Amino acid sequence: MTNTSARPRALDVGVATDVGRVRDHNEDAWLADGTVHVVADGMGGHAAGEVASATAIATFRALVGRTDLTVEDIDRAVDDANDAILEAARSQPGRRGMGTTATGLVQLGSGDWAIVNIGDSRVYRWADDVLAQVTIDHSEVQELVEEGLLTREQARVHPLRNIITRSLGLDPAAAPDVLVLPPVPGERFVLCSDGLNDELDDAAIATVLRENPRSQPAAGALVAAAVAAGGHDNVTVIVVGVPGAD
Ligand code: MN
Repeated sequence: MTNTSARPRALDVGVATDVGRVRDHNEDAWLADGTVHVVADGMGGHAAGEVASATAIATFRALVGRTDLTVEDIDRAVDDANDAILEAARSQPGRRGMGTTATGLVQLGSGDWAIVNIGDSRVYRWADDVLAQVTIDHSEVQELVEEGLLTREQARVHPLRNIITRSLGLDPAAAPDVLVLPPVPGERFVLCSDGLNDELDDAAIATVLRENPRSQPAAGALVAAAVAAGGHDNVTVIVVGVPGAD
């Protein structure tokens, strides 16, 4: 199989976002254009979180339409987003300390997926009726999970679950995880801010995906379920479906 034959014909993409029931504005931002999909969850007072997440998304937008992308291009976009957020924070005192997560699913020139992550937004993969978290959260509770001190389910409801250990805008050298995966016919990905997985466990997310084979209804139903379950945070979901083999 050559790389070009592995290129998906047309992706089935759906997006939904909601401010939730508690927050008064939505600091999440997203991009779903062609083969570039990104969710960013901003943080910082005085609406600075919105500036941080929007700045990250604006930087990733430069990847849209490129058919020759490499992992180096993804790394550079992350660095550029980090620099832009740090610069914006320096130029306005009210924005000091702002930051954002970023999680992305981008098709490379090789046809492979690049999955990039910094912070605690997530990419899940759904294939053969099984949901798996692909990204690793950069969070205090994830470190406790890795040390065997918390289960994944205990971490999901832990009071310190929102303390993240990496983000854009935190430090001059951004350190994302980047994973490269070959596309598989029929697989689906869910990109989300923590407003989804703080409200819905894996089984609940899987149920919604099973009931909604198309991406836009699936994204809408996931966000609606998170809001119905409490909506304590902004919630953003992008669902990306790779066409089946037929
Ligand atoms: Mn959040």
